[in-house]
Amino acid sequence: MNARFSGQNVVVTGAGQGIGAATARRFATEGASVAVVDLDLDRAERTAEELNADPGVVSAGGSVRAWRCDVTDQAAVEDVFAGIIEVHGGLDVLVNNAGIARDNLLFKMELSDWQAVLTTNLTSAYLCARAAQAHMVAKRHGKIVNLSSRSALGNVGQANYAAAKAGIQGLTATLAMELGRFNINVNAVAPGYIATSMTAQTAQRVGSTPEEHQQAVAARTPLGRVGQPEEVASVIAFLASDDASYVSGQTVYINGGAR
Ligand code: NDP
Repeated sequence: MNARFSGQNVVVTGAGQGIGAATARRFATEGASVAVVDLDLDRAERTAEELNADPGVVSAGGSVRAWRCDVTDQAAVEDVFAGIIEVHGGLDVLVNNAGIARDNLLFKMELSDWQAVLTTNLTSAYLCARAAQAHMVAKRHGKIVNLSSRSALGNVGQANYAAAKAGIQGLTATLAMELGRFNINVNAVAPGYIATSMTAQTAQRVGSTPEEHQQAVAARTPLGRVGQPEEVASVIAFLASDDASYVSGQTVYINGGAR
């Protein structure tokens, strides 16, 4: 694999599992020093240990370190970014991936579920981007990739999640305008259905197994299948690379062709 990120420092939030862990792997197999940030330190450490033993990571000269942080907590975010920049030696790429879903129809959706989803999916991206940009602006170099979702276009039972993920698209477009003059690219990806523990929980809530749920989604997807975390990670890496040097303010849908 090309070592597009040799010598670069990458932060991926919510990287203990799922799309975040696949993204950490992708960057590390392209030579990056990756900070795996997660609410659950044990999970982040297991991911880091596994990736550091991966021959693809070793041969690319990549490395991974686990960090615990609740990305909804401003003081914790500021502390962890200061620590990462000191220990890893800088910050070139931020991937705002941490997210949760708390689905329900509006009349059953509690304020706490609305707030938790807005805070974890949207406010966290603001907090992390704010902490990262201070370093990136000073260096006149940086890439930020945010996780939106196809649900930003609307999805029954996801008023909170759709609002947060649509907010991510507005945040992305605006940060691209504000930070462009400092040579910082800001983009978003909007995945459709990706097989992770988040979608497995959705299946469980509607009384299906993950396999049945995936088959139903696959049947209405032009490519005839659901997506895998690695298929999101590769697009995130592209947007964070110099291959996408003139791409900024965009949201790229990764959803197998579904409209
Ligand atoms: P997962 O639930 O598998 O992983 C999310 C990770 O984020 C978990 O490790 C979780 O930790 C962590 N996390 C949650 N809250 C916080 C927090 N406050 N601080 C730090 N870490 C936190 O999700 P996916 O991999 O499926 O999703 C990753 C991103 O992609 C999310 O933003 C999601 O909205 C988005 N996405 C996913 C799609 C899908 O189909 N899977 C589709 C479109 C977008 P813990 O488990 O300990 O809470």
